Amino acid sequence: MKYKSILHLDLDTFFVSVERLLHPELQNRPVLVGGLGDRGVVAACSYETRRFGVHSGMSMKVARQLCPQATVIKGNSATYSKYSDVVTEIIKNKVPAFEKASIDEFYADLSGMDKFFGTYRFATELRQQIIKESGLPISFGLSQNKIVSKIATGEAKPNNQLLIENGTERSFLAPLSVRKIPMIGSKTFQTLLGLGVREIKTIQEMPVEMMESVLGKNGRTIWKRAHGIDDSPIIPFHERKSISAERTFHRDTINMVQLHATLTAMAENLAYQLRRGNKLTSVISVKIRYSDFNTYTKQAKIPYTSADHILIPRLEELFRQLYNRRLLIRLIGIKFSGLVGGHYQINLFDDTQEMLDLYHSLDYIRTRYGDDNIVMRASTMGGTLVGRMDNPFNGAPPVLLAHRQS
Ligand SMILES: [Mg+2]
Repeated sequence: MKYKSILHLDLDTFFVSVERLLHPELQNRPVLVGGLGDRGVVAACSYETRRFGVHSGMSMKVARQLCPQATVIKGNSATYSKYSDVVTEIIKNKVPAFEKASIDEFYADLSGMDKFFGTYRFATELRQQIIKESGLPISFGLSQNKIVSKIATGEAKPNNQLLIENGTERSFLAPLSVRKIPMIGSKTFQTLLGLGVREIKTIQEMPVEMMESVLGKNGRTIWKRAHGIDDSPIIPFHERKSISAERTFHRDTINMVQLHATLTAMAENLAYQLRRGNKLTSVISVKIRYSDFNTYTKQAKIPYTSADHILIPRLEELFRQLYNRRLLIRLIGIKFSGLVGGHYQINLFDDTQEMLDLYHSLDYIRTRYGDDNIVMRASTMGGTLVGRMDNPFNGAPPVLLAHRQS
């Protein structure tokens, strides 16, 4: 049987480590990174703060009460995006098939390399190179699939590595808490606790039907993961799709109110899709087609984000730079690319809990009622909203919105 060799790499307390690189006096001190206001949220915390019960996602106010000696730093998404790219470049130059799962997490398929080199030795050298060149601590897990490797990375941390040899997956997983299985959130965890299931070993001893009857379809997946079985593929970085939207006007226009409203509506829709697909963008572009059919595009690299209030002003700036011929406009379009996995976390520094709650509510309304009944930002009221689109991350191509009349 031919085994695969899948490497999972994860930068340790990424935001904190970058801050320590820039401010060495923070080394070995408790550090919190996040929003500084009373309503701010902890985006990352150093290991020193964890024994006080601090974890990421909790309110900064509570974290400060639990660990008053911690140094609190307002995060900077531009800086973290830059370091994320530095690490990505190192991996890209060494491994042809890799996946950037989030801004601080990577999978790489090393299958076949063992013939020449030994995958464990290769992974060890790659990790040392990242540490040396980026200055950031990183851990890895190596096994025959993504799930076991990810769990192994978690066990290796901080700043270490772990090889799970073929055939030892089950015994490696057995003593661990079921909580360590990716996809077991607090709700599923409580359900399992209610059944007296704490360790993965207990799931290994249960028939799959039992897990299915309690947890439905997820029960089977969890049962397989508990046995170290997983065949999810690496999604190569360069194949990550972009998402885009464009709009041809019924009548060519230079009506700035209408153009602005259209741009904003498209941006809101695409940003919503990013959030729904758990994605962040790092490259945005704007396209203009004039009435003479000449088409121009302009793009910009930006810090990873999925937030409307960051994206819209940047798109407007690009539009202003692009729109320099005093001609009627036939079409405008926008595109988000350079996508990686990740949620609101990267924007937590700038945003208060209220802002995050607002996004959650807006997204909830969009999901629940569709775009026709949506609560719109004031500036989009003057335009027609672009239509509802399917999730572009499930394989379906994004819908182009040409020829929609305003
Ligand atoms: Mg990490």
